[in-house]
Amino acid sequence: MQSDEQSLQGELIVKDRASVTVERSYTIESKRKIIHIDMDAFFASVEQRDNLQYRGKPLIVGGQPHSRGVVAACSYEAREFGIHSAMPSSQAYRQCPQAIFVPPRFNAYRDASHLIQAIFRRYTDKVEPLSLDEAYLDVTDRARTDQRFGGSAQRIANEIRQAIFDELNLTASAGVSYNKFLAKLASDRNKPNGICVIKPGEAEVLLARLPVRKFHGVGQATERKMNKLGITTGQDLKNWSQLALVDAFGKQGLYYFNIVRGIDHRPVNNNRERKSIGAERTFQNDLQNTHEMLAALELICETLIERMKAKNTFAKTLTLKLRYANFEVVTRSISPDGGLSDKQSITRLLPGLLTKTEAGDRAVRLLGLSVAHLQPDVSKTATMDADNASSATPSHSDASIDIQAVDDLYTSQLKLL
Ligand SMILES: [Mg+2]
Repeated sequence: MQSDEQSLQGELIVKDRASVTVERSYTIESKRKIIHIDMDAFFASVEQRDNLQYRGKPLIVGGQPHSRGVVAACSYEAREFGIHSAMPSSQAYRQCPQAIFVPPRFNAYRDASHLIQAIFRRYTDKVEPLSLDEAYLDVTDRARTDQRFGGSAQRIANEIRQAIFDELNLTASAGVSYNKFLAKLASDRNKPNGICVIKPGEAEVLLARLPVRKFHGVGQATERKMNKLGITTGQDLKNWSQLALVDAFGKQGLYYFNIVRGIDHRPVNNNRERKSIGAERTFQNDLQNTHEMLAALELICETLIERMKAKNTFAKTLTLKLRYANFEVVTRSISPDGGLSDKQSITRLLPGLLTKTEAGDRAVRLLGLSVAHLQPDVSKTATMDADNASSATPSHSDASIDIQAVDDLYTSQLKLL
């Protein structure tokens, strides 16, 4: 690490002022040690662990082959047939008719998840779960203070993976780096049952070569937009100035500018509040036009308002969720001045949110509304915290779609099966 910092100091001299700022934050940031743990094919692995007859076979956890359900998870044997999560079960069946289809056992996954998180907490209390099978860990202090690890987060990550295997008979992959963005990127690189370390000084070269769709926070819609602008790789993205990116992508542009340089200051948030209230509906027949969709959203809004009233809350951020006929999920959020307190304050925003999607051009099978940044008291706290709701982190953009999609699978599977 020291030599990285020294070489950076050397580089500073020849760089212009904008770059100096970038490189400095990189040096400070490189002192953190972040691990991202991601269980391998989690639901399917739990099933294969608990049922001998599923081992070594293509296994699909999710909707039955002839239902409208989707694949919640699949074994690596099933992946060889091109099957992946969120794919309609009917399509998975066409690609691999011999696959075993089983309904999810969420209680079993939750139990395993709790045990895994207990293992994480032996190493640090800075644990931020992203879903049942993924979490960020900040092990900076532990790596430094526990001589057993000699400053190495990689050793900690391997010990955690070993403990998960010994105690739960499940495999996990780990990414180790100096921030969340890079740790998550790394955990995906040597899957399954692998580990990847991205050191300070390696990140920028690696990121420049990657296609932008590999960046956490760049979803399908953003990828399409970037491709249209001629941005397909990290290097293309890096060629854009901060100003041009903000012009093209709003606040997210700043996030893209930073991540392609390996910069991500988001802390590992161990008491992350995922508080939101929502309501959604899957339609028997896909909705084709926006009038139908707005009418459906009004009804969903009534349910939402009931739920908000029951909890006596006022909210700052409204999110529209929409699943297209092909199961792709998108979300669009807005944090209006004055907040969200009654039906009218929500319904007036719906046409605007809907036009930010491809609804109408594409058929829609599910619509949902949720409110977040909840506040208990309507009048007094309405204007507080305005910056939080619109920070440059990807919490309300593409990145949350990924997280949202995972949560969707947990909740909507139950309805679809
Ligand atoms: Mg996983």
